[in-house]
Amino acid sequence: MAYEKIELLIGGKWTNGTSGVTEPVINPATEEVLGHVPHASAADLDAAMEASLEGFRVWRAKTAVERQGIMEQAARLIEERKEAIAENLTLEMGKPFGEAKLELDFTISVMRWYAEEGKRAYGRVVPPRVPGMRQMVMSEPVGPVAAFVAWNFPGVNVIRKIAGALGAGCSIIIKASEETPATCVAIARCLQDAGLPDGVLNVVFGVPDDVSRHLLASRIPRKLSFTGSVPVGKHLQKLAADTLKRCTMELGGHSPVIVFDDADIAKTAQAAAATKFRNAGQVCVSPTRFYVQDNVAGQFADEFAKAASAIKVGNGMDEGVTMGPLIAERRLAVIQDFVDDAVNSGAELMMGGERIGNQGYFYAPTVLNNVPETAKIMFDEPFGPVAPIASFKNFDDVLERANRLEFGLASYLFTNNGARATAFGEQIEAGMLAVNSFMVSTPETPFGGINESGYGSEGGIEGLDAYLRTKFITETGV
Ligand code: NAD
Repeated sequence: MAYEKIELLIGGKWTNGTSGVTEPVINPATEEVLGHVPHASAADLDAAMEASLEGFRVWRAKTAVERQGIMEQAARLIEERKEAIAENLTLEMGKPFGEAKLELDFTISVMRWYAEEGKRAYGRVVPPRVPGMRQMVMSEPVGPVAAFVAWNFPGVNVIRKIAGALGAGCSIIIKASEETPATCVAIARCLQDAGLPDGVLNVVFGVPDDVSRHLLASRIPRKLSFTGSVPVGKHLQKLAADTLKRCTMELGGHSPVIVFDDADIAKTAQAAAATKFRNAGQVCVSPTRFYVQDNVAGQFADEFAKAASAIKVGNGMDEGVTMGPLIAERRLAVIQDFVDDAVNSGAELMMGGERIGNQGYFYAPTVLNNVPETAKIMFDEPFGPVAPIASFKNFDDVLERANRLEFGLASYLFTNNGARATAFGEQIEAGMLAVNSFMVSTPETPFGGINESGYGSEGGIEGLDAYLRTKFITETGV
């Protein structure tokens, strides 16, 4: 299977841009060069912004039903090309082929959901205080959008921005990760082939900081949407401040998993291990701090390690592989440092703790038990295949520890006590809580964090709302 030709999409034309600069895309499982990403020059970015203005003019004038028709056709094309796109996704990102296909199923659902929901971008009519007057609250698209997304879900991260913007009637300039460009390019080709007007979607690549500085300094994009780390999110928000762009920040998390002794310990540990090592732990809502009630903590750790030992690490294109490599070589050193620090702080290494082989960026599924609260991994987001387990005594103790960090993305609670679940739900500092499961992401429910995990949900009616602005119109004597 061929790797997608990576090009920029500017004003409906696929181009290599004018900078002459490219960078290689590396397969993290083999370290082979898959292709080259062209970097957009400042002139290319200016052209993309001009195109997004024209695209916005054309797209917002269409009816929501017309927009839905084009988005639905694009969803069908992604479906038709799913095998090829999924292979590209696995080649550039590393996740197992089966997971890549599931990611594309989700990508298609998100596209369809926003396409349909765009028909329901309702305003309202407010009864007036004065006779003969009509007061209308209008929802209208916010304008051209600038979006930047990380590499960990090359399909879903991209479609949440593109479909949200398009469903609301906005145009968009998106910079997907230079490490995983093919999935974004393939999705953009589906939209172009479905009849998306020129300039509605523009795809650019480059040095991330150069691209974001250039786009965010302009008044043309009215909205910034970012998926990635907390430090980069803070940096981008500052860049967007000068032109007061609206922002959606989908940033990192450090999701606590709280297991009370009345939960089904074996079942919970198995589900926890499967979720923890999905995408090699490179998921913003990955469970990253396991707090287990002290009388069942030993049993949980044993069951968890047993389930983790069944994971087959390897090239995502190989049959039976359930966990691929890390995205890049730099992440191996980061993960090793988390593990070494935890062990030096007194944690017990139950399994893993090292790189596998010396070709491809594979790291062994790692389980650390009795991890002290002072270890670095209990503060910083690991974003890798490491599970730190610690024990707790009671509700107040564990709630305090769960809420200790500035992150507030996902959280998970396992208990059969309904009153406890309700109390926990009211007091946990997180944008999402799953009780007795790890399910927090569907197209029709809001996905997003609070505190330093960001703000502004993706998905759900909130996701569409992020691309709409409010206009109040009052009419008298008409
Ligand atoms: P990173 O912060 O350097 O990069 C994350 C992403 O942001 C990359 O795709 C990168 O291209 C983009 N980016 C970086 N600087 C940018 C800029 N100035 N302008 C625009 N985009 C920019 O981190 P990394 O080493 O690639 O990944 C590890 C960290 O990233 C983790 O600690 C995790 O917190 C975070 N991350 C979070 C998510 C998420 O879904 N919230 C996804 C991927 C990575």
